[in-house]
Amino acid sequence: MTITRSQEHTNMTTEDTPGTELMLVGGDWIAAADDRWIDVESPRDGSIIGRVPRGSTTEVEQAVSAAATAYKSWSTLPPRERGEAIRLIAAAVEPEIERIARLASLENGNALRTQSRGEARFVVDCFRYFGGLAQEAKGETIPLNPGVLDYTRREPLGVVGAIVPWNAPLMLSTLKISPALVAGNTMVLKVAEDAPLAVLALARICQKFLPAGVLNVVSGYGEEAGEALINHPGVAKLSFTGSTAVGRRVMQAGAERITPVSLELGGKSPQIVFPDADADWVARGVMAGMRFFRQGQSCTAGSRVFVHERIYDSFVARLVESLRTVTVGDPLDESSDIGALVSATQYQRVCNYIEDGMNQDGAQLALGGLPPSEGPLAEGYYVEPTVFTGVDNTWRIASEEIFGPVVCVIPWRDEADVVRMANDTHYGLAGFVWTNDLGAGLRTAHALEAGWVQVNQGGGQVLGQSYGGFKQSGIGREFSLEGMLESYTARKHVSVGLGNN
Ligand code: NAD
Repeated sequence: MTITRSQEHTNMTTEDTPGTELMLVGGDWIAAADDRWIDVESPRDGSIIGRVPRGSTTEVEQAVSAAATAYKSWSTLPPRERGEAIRLIAAAVEPEIERIARLASLENGNALRTQSRGEARFVVDCFRYFGGLAQEAKGETIPLNPGVLDYTRREPLGVVGAIVPWNAPLMLSTLKISPALVAGNTMVLKVAEDAPLAVLALARICQKFLPAGVLNVVSGYGEEAGEALINHPGVAKLSFTGSTAVGRRVMQAGAERITPVSLELGGKSPQIVFPDADADWVARGVMAGMRFFRQGQSCTAGSRVFVHERIYDSFVARLVESLRTVTVGDPLDESSDIGALVSATQYQRVCNYIEDGMNQDGAQLALGGLPPSEGPLAEGYYVEPTVFTGVDNTWRIASEEIFGPVVCVIPWRDEADVVRMANDTHYGLAGFVWTNDLGAGLRTAHALEAGWVQVNQGGGQVLGQSYGGFKQSGIGREFSLEGMLESYTARKHVSVGLGNN
């Protein structure tokens, strides 16, 4: 593993200290009424790079009211006009990819080359994809009897309250904004307190093409702005991405008013390596599936790697070897594969899990461990890829979502038993199977209790897939036309008597 200096700052320009940003409410850019602010820290070196308003009930009230007003005309526009506005946003974001990606890396620590640039490109694709689907919110006719014409309409829901986390803020915000708006809803989006700047910069572009109030973006803490939004009676739909604990809270708030909720939550996803898959390409695939290139800060991270006992030692050696080739360092440095964890809190949390693993009887540390206390990596929130072997599936490090670059390798012997272990979790987001045996691969894919299983690949979600979790990993689907229809429209039947009864 190569280490680059985090503090070289050779690219330091004013772009690297974006400064003060405001919230978008009713087409205006505003501060919080009580003039409170949240500092935004860069995890690459702990410096304060900007600040955003600490919005709360007052601003959420204004934003929901503006969204409700805008809904009247936005929802009745011809769908193709809404689609056109969304496609114009895609075109306007395209030349800004580098700037927005850089901002994202600065504030959340994801490496620019391996993560943020791709994430910003996804934003363009996503606006383009959903912009093209504007006329696909079709209804059906139902042949009830010859005397009745019964048909359905897909109608928007109203004001959507959306909340996103910090780990892929551009992608996750776009995945809510574009389908919701195309379907005719308006939105109040609350950005994450740890990474608000890139989404607010994106909102500045969106606003050029949208009527005032169609998209509102509020910054603030979960307990303040977030709670105000999920409890607001004017919100007709809640769309949340984040932890399972907060997702439960969102669902409770929705239950009070029978407000529909979509939840994209946490995971502790399994990767199962069969005895015929002891190969370097599998080790590289497992590394990608574990989302090491995003410091393991991904809901779909395959953080429990079950390796057949016959190839256990050899495969662990390959995995460790592959991980030794990656470079951890300054997220803005083009040579860094892996950047920094998002915040001091996350850094401490991940270190606590590593300590827990190191103190666990029987666990062996095959790579990584606690971060160095001096040298370049000590200057930001950098944690090296960490591999624990000889892990038991019931241990804390194997059962709780660490959300850091820490993988547990667990031996297995029997196919039924490994499937049982893989499913022995309250999560059910993703799964990965590695084998040349088609039957074993598909049997296992079908047996895993997860919303998305990949066989012999470890990539990220692709537009068009209906992505979402089983069990406590979520409710509802995103990423697709079907997801848009399910999450952001309601089906209405209209029954017309034809006058001959
Ligand atoms: P989090 O749940 O702590 O916070 C997410 C968002 O919710 C933030 O904007 C936060 O301010 C807000 N929030 C916090 N408390 C709130 C409350 N009481 N009411 C309303 N809003 C509140 O999660 P995080 O630490 O920011 O993100 C990491 C988590 O997100 C992980 O569990 C990860 O698996 C999950 N995640 C899931 C997906 C998915 O697609 N399933 C994608 C990305 C992240």
